[in-house]
Amino acid sequence: MSRSTIVIGAGLAGLAAAVMAVAKGDSVTLLEATPHAGGRCRSWPLAGESLPLVDLGTHLILRGNRAVHAYLARIGAQEGFVAPGPTPGALTMIGVEMGAEGRLTVPLGPSLLLKPPKPLTRAALFAASTLMLGGTVADRLDLSGPAGRWLWGPLTRSILNTDPVEGDARLLAAVLRQGLLRGAAAACPLVARQSLSASLIEPALTYLQAKGAHIRFTTPLRDFHRGNDRLTALRVGTGEIIPITPSARVILAVPPLAAQRLLPELIVPTESRAILNAHAVLPAPPNANETPELLGLIDGTGEWFLRRGARVAITVSAADSFRGWPEAKLSAAFRADLLRLYGSAPETVTLIWEKRATFAATPAQAALRPKMRASGLLNLRLAGDWTDTGLPATIEGAIRSGIRAAESWF
Ligand SMILES: Cc1cc2nc3c(=O)[nH]c(=O)nc-3n(C[C@H](O)[C@H](O)[C@H](O)COP(=O)(O)OP(=O)(O)OC[C@H]3O[C@@H](n4cnc5c(N)ncnc54)[C@H](O)[C@@H]3O)c2cc1C
Repeated sequence: MSRSTIVIGAGLAGLAAAVMAVAKGDSVTLLEATPHAGGRCRSWPLAGESLPLVDLGTHLILRGNRAVHAYLARIGAQEGFVAPGPTPGALTMIGVEMGAEGRLTVPLGPSLLLKPPKPLTRAALFAASTLMLGGTVADRLDLSGPAGRWLWGPLTRSILNTDPVEGDARLLAAVLRQGLLRGAAAACPLVARQSLSASLIEPALTYLQAKGAHIRFTTPLRDFHRGNDRLTALRVGTGEIIPITPSARVILAVPPLAAQRLLPELIVPTESRAILNAHAVLPAPPNANETPELLGLIDGTGEWFLRRGARVAITVSAADSFRGWPEAKLSAAFRADLLRLYGSAPETVTLIWEKRATFAATPAQAALRPKMRASGLLNLRLAGDWTDTGLPATIEGAIRSGIRAAESWF
């Protein structure tokens, strides 16, 4: 008889754990509080629009993200990501400082260090080797020089979702090591070809269903029943009690504060940082079938602009300082950015705030991240981007944590 694994939370950590457990032959039950899977990594149609789904924020991964690619291979979704233009494998940064041309193409990987494009210098790039010493990014890197303005500042904010002044230097170093320093192929950024749900979520649900997993939406976990050093039952939103047999295992893959409500003794990162997304449809739509295009704007309001056909998704990371801005002011600022980048801007821009987008990647908050066995309960593992993955809150970290939690029993 197969062992059973109960996974709580159908974000990427929970989906990855469920996919791994079912692949190893476990009978899997996945409980999710909301009516949908994907958590912070999902897509939906904007009200009144017939265009494809929009993502809850543009998500970038690297070709060198091993856990993500193992997950995609397992669920048969390797084709779901694509290297965005205008120069695949490079970042295209825009800013008036670069003169008439106004753009800097930054190739990612070793060629950046060997032959940096002006005004970046080798000394400023090699300074990244000091990130391993710890502290904040601002402690280690000069953020006021060209490398700081064109590369380290934008990269830190988007990778850590935390301002470089307070962002954890070691967490940034972990991502640079894992992708950018492992060669141009590993460093190549990728975006979902169509949408996050189509690339990462729907194929996982199809895989789990085909393998007989029992997926229950709108089923929040409310409480654990414990006996000595084990969980004995789960109480879910409907009041139903789900018994946990002696051979069953539980993986808790919910956000940090939800985990702490269920396990009050658990120490978790409590501070978070917001991400602001804006969605716009350009009035003069370019060819809808072309490769997505990603532009970084260093002196605008929006930071990253991902265009898929006529639709542009704008991202501002570590956006808490914009929380007090009225919607009309934000929309006008984004429309000005769009006009500058594409020569046209729509009448309306849809704003989407994710107030608790990720934990605050400061050294102090990073020190609070628990290990997967931190509950001390023998049949419970923790997973999620906020657990001690060694990475910032990323897709790679979330999937890695889910896979590790599921594998820890095999
Ligand atoms: C706007 C935005 C942009 C981002 N950009 C990037 C990027 O470019 N690159 C990158 O790598 N990462 C990015 N991230 C981070 C990435 O989305 C997350 O790291 C990842 O999705 C976290 O997955 P998770 O499973 O750990 O958590 P979550 O996605 O939060 O999943 C937790 C799940 O648990 C469920 N849940 C909560 N409580 C209960 C309960 N009591 N019972 C049952 N279920 C419950 C929730 O509904 C949710 O489905 C971004 C995040 C945001 C918000």
